[in-house]
Amino acid sequence: MKETQTNGLSDDNNMQSATCKKNGHEKCTFHHDLELDHRPPTREAMLPEMSRSYRLLLSSLGENPDRQGLLKTPERAAKAMLFFTKGYDQSLEEVLNDAIFDEDHDEMVVVKDIEMFSMCEHHLVPFYGKVSIGYLPCGKILGLSKLARIVEIYCRRLQVQERLTKQIAVAVTKAVQPAGVAVVVEGTHMCMVMRGVQKINSKTVTSTMLGVFRDDPKTREEFLNLVQSK
Ligand SMILES: [Zn+2]
Repeated sequence: MKETQTNGLSDDNNMQSATCKKNGHEKCTFHHDLELDHRPPTREAMLPEMSRSYRLLLSSLGENPDRQGLLKTPERAAKAMLFFTKGYDQSLEEVLNDAIFDEDHDEMVVVKDIEMFSMCEHHLVPFYGKVSIGYLPCGKILGLSKLARIVEIYCRRLQVQERLTKQIAVAVTKAVQPAGVAVVVEGTHMCMVMRGVQKINSKTVTSTMLGVFRDDPKTREEFLNLVQSK
């Protein structure tokens, strides 16, 4: 009996993913946590429909979308949302573009306090903060600016902070196959600050430790000390 139910469920899932493909969401981060590509068909083509949706939203709020101050708001809001989610247009391969170098350097590389602006996928309001990344090279290093670019690919999407943290770590692993990667993200979520309990100063900290950073407490400690020092 249980077996049958399980099979039934997976059939449903297959059907769902078939539907997703039709809608241009193949390899979608919403459905497959660690897929690194997401390419809806041309995003600028979505502007008119997005504008109509924002206009409808204004009406739903009881506003008059035809009053002077709001006339161009739907289009502006649509363009802003496209910008906030432009990471969907970028792939890791494009961003890395010849910035991987063979190098014997075997000391920890740390870039800390990379600015991050993202959108909470549960409330469609921003969360923002800082990302610190460390890795222990194993024959290859990455152009330093590329770590910030990797953050941009994944934060400029609808996100939860936990997944963002993991995606950055996996991307660095894919890029240079290091001995280990550590990522710490510190975020302020407007959905917490502006509503509900209004914890204005609360911060959410998430981390992902892979390879030696997971296995060796000393390496992990060295990273955390570097990240926490002012
Ligand atoms: Zn939220």
